[in-house]
Amino acid sequence: MSFFNNGGNPFVIAGPCSAETREQVLETAAAIAGRIQLFRAGVWKPRTRPGSFEGMGEAALQWLQEVKQVYGLPVTIEVAEPQHIELALKYGMDVLWIGARTTVNPFQVQRLADALKGVDIPVMVKNPVNPDVDLWHGAIERLEHAGITDIAAIHRGFSSYNAASPYRNQPNWPIPIELKRRRPSLPIICDPSHISGNRELVARVAQKAMDMGFCGLMIETHPNPAEAWSDAAQQITPDALIALIDNLVVRQLYTTDTGKSLSLENLRQMMDGIDAEIIDLIARRMELSERMGAVKKDCNMTAYQPERWQEIVATRSDRAEKLNLSREFIVALYEKIHDESIKKQLEILQALMNEVKG
Ligand code: PEP
Ligand code: MN
Repeated sequence: MSFFNNGGNPFVIAGPCSAETREQVLETAAAIAGRIQLFRAGVWKPRTRPGSFEGMGEAALQWLQEVKQVYGLPVTIEVAEPQHIELALKYGMDVLWIGARTTVNPFQVQRLADALKGVDIPVMVKNPVNPDVDLWHGAIERLEHAGITDIAAIHRGFSSYNAASPYRNQPNWPIPIELKRRRPSLPIICDPSHISGNRELVARVAQKAMDMGFCGLMIETHPNPAEAWSDAAQQITPDALIALIDNLVVRQLYTTDTGKSLSLENLRQMMDGIDAEIIDLIARRMELSERMGAVKKDCNMTAYQPERWQEIVATRSDRAEKLNLSREFIVALYEKIHDESIKKQLEILQALMNEVKG
């Protein structure tokens, strides 16, 4: 049974961004012990610019050992170097996590995986900073190949240049959902603190994760968040954490209400029918593209015509808006369809060209 299974309740990981002092670590643990499943603290901190607080290192491992002894709370830290793993094991850390800035680098993940060969410990893998499901999945596979069997993934959002975004790291829910589709038994946890970057948003993002069916949360908690040595804007107090946990609406994957379950099944069948029609229509549309490709070849025209694409975007998004669909969604969908259609036309142009050459 996975360490991350909390019997249908969310598996909550909490504790400070960084272990700063023995008092801060023990005070936080005292305030939240009994309400969480795993205590976190950063001991070596990956910082964007040099000169920022880089963690207390080995000394902090003793404070975490004390948390474990005094409160019976399992503890976890971030590891980014084989030497971090060695020390984490020496001080009896129960779980390790790989941070976003490490997951992004397959060489480093492999070094960590090699250091974990023959070690039996649960490991959590944060998503890489860029929205690449394969890179995330690949890091998990490297650990599996090293013999780690209990693994969880953590969605902590992705870096983005969108200055208007309210988030520090933009959530991108389809990416963890795709990971879950590929690996149905992998526990997926959400880190609303690093997604939000701002304590005001943390509870809302945590609830959204519950609505999306995530099995747990990792939330940065500090007795005096405004004075924290790292991530001061996003940490919440122990009281705020407890209120957040008490107010969570936890949703189930399945219902035991047979009436509701039948009506869902009915709606699903109707949706299956609509999806079959959508795919048939797309196939018919692609056939038209191929015929257009042949005509364009005859007239020596390019496959891609910018005005035509603009007209498609304008007319399709107007129509979508009238039906209460978002313009962005329809444009994104049409970008995919149009790309495929252009690809088909290029194939036709090139096939005909080869015939001429041959
Ligand atoms: C952290 O959890 O404190 C941390 C550094 O997170 P991330 O790897 O998500 O940036
Ligand atoms: Mn942090």
